[in-house]
Amino acid sequence: MEVLTADDILKVYRDDREFLKIAEKVFQGKRIDEEEALYLYERADLTALGHLAEWLNRKKNGSFAYFIVNRQINPTNVCMYQCDFCAFGVKRSDPKAYEMTLEEILRKVRETYEMGGREVHIVGGIPSNWPYEKYIEIVREVKKAFPDIVVKAWTAVEIHHMAKISGKSYEEVLKELMDAGLDAIPGGGAEIFSERVRRIIAPYKASARDYLEVHRTAHRLGIPTNATMLYGHVETLRERIEHLSELRKLQDETGGFQVFIPLAYWPEGTRLGGTRTSSVDDLKTIALSRIFLDNFDHIKAYWVTLGEKVAQIALNFGADDLDGTIEEERIVHSAGTKSAYGHSVDRLVNMIKKAGKVPVERDTFYNVVRIFS
Ligand code: SF4
Repeated sequence: MEVLTADDILKVYRDDREFLKIAEKVFQGKRIDEEEALYLYERADLTALGHLAEWLNRKKNGSFAYFIVNRQINPTNVCMYQCDFCAFGVKRSDPKAYEMTLEEILRKVRETYEMGGREVHIVGGIPSNWPYEKYIEIVREVKKAFPDIVVKAWTAVEIHHMAKISGKSYEEVLKELMDAGLDAIPGGGAEIFSERVRRIIAPYKASARDYLEVHRTAHRLGIPTNATMLYGHVETLRERIEHLSELRKLQDETGGFQVFIPLAYWPEGTRLGGTRTSSVDDLKTIALSRIFLDNFDHIKAYWVTLGEKVAQIALNFGADDLDGTIEEERIVHSAGTKSAYGHSVDRLVNMIKKAGKVPVERDTFYNVVRIFS
């Protein structure tokens, strides 16, 4: 999509007065409110939203689009919470249930390390019989064997669970994880913060308040974290905006989020069912996230949930990051995504170049490793 200047955007979309008012605020560096966000979602032209979001993105990130050489490791899919939207977490008796040994986990980390990987992203199901110490041990053993690799591990839901079973505070748990070698926390488990929605899709696991408090505590301790939103199931557009609003507030308070990742819902194999989000909804959500979350530097077009083609377009709708090579994605594949399980560096570089951006390999903290000009 052609990149438009602020003047061009005001000219091209002059017939939509409400959009113009919002765009002018954005050009003046002012924050948009929830009602304006709702207008953009419901009424604004898709390309208008894309041009405005990309104008903002270019202001923050120029023509760079980031990716990382990383690997996802899901040590087990056994999960006591059985959220209705999730096709990954299964009961121990399920024929698909698996649990990796520590040796298997370390072998996967070694493979990643040997191919130049910078990060392992470790999250999984929550088995009822795992002791608190097991979560700490996995981090400690990975870091001990590979001190140079960044360990991004355990969602706020897992950390809340660790606090629950150990009787420790979030701060105590996070400090023990840091001592063991934890470097960063992924953003999973946010879903949609609305209590109404959580009662339907995930009534038993950590609440929105718990999620936000785990991240707040992590930021206070200096642990960078990511933020997510799982959209496209039973939530309303207003509930999505309220979710973004909570994240924007916490980011104002702490500045500890590195990136926001909208995650499109995949229904296959879930008890909740439903249909897949449309590409229009995916692109609007990316663009709106960029415009509303004015205090986030990075918005991720996660190629696993969006699919490679929509993720490429999203790089022109306000997103500046594709995530990474991943190697072995299992969670969204359980729910039916047709994306690859992983991509080579060449493939990601090619995807970004074909989207008209400059590919930049980054580390977990958005330091530049290599620019593919
Ligand atoms: S979303 Fe997480 S907590 Fe819920 S069933 Fe799936 S793995 Fe378990």
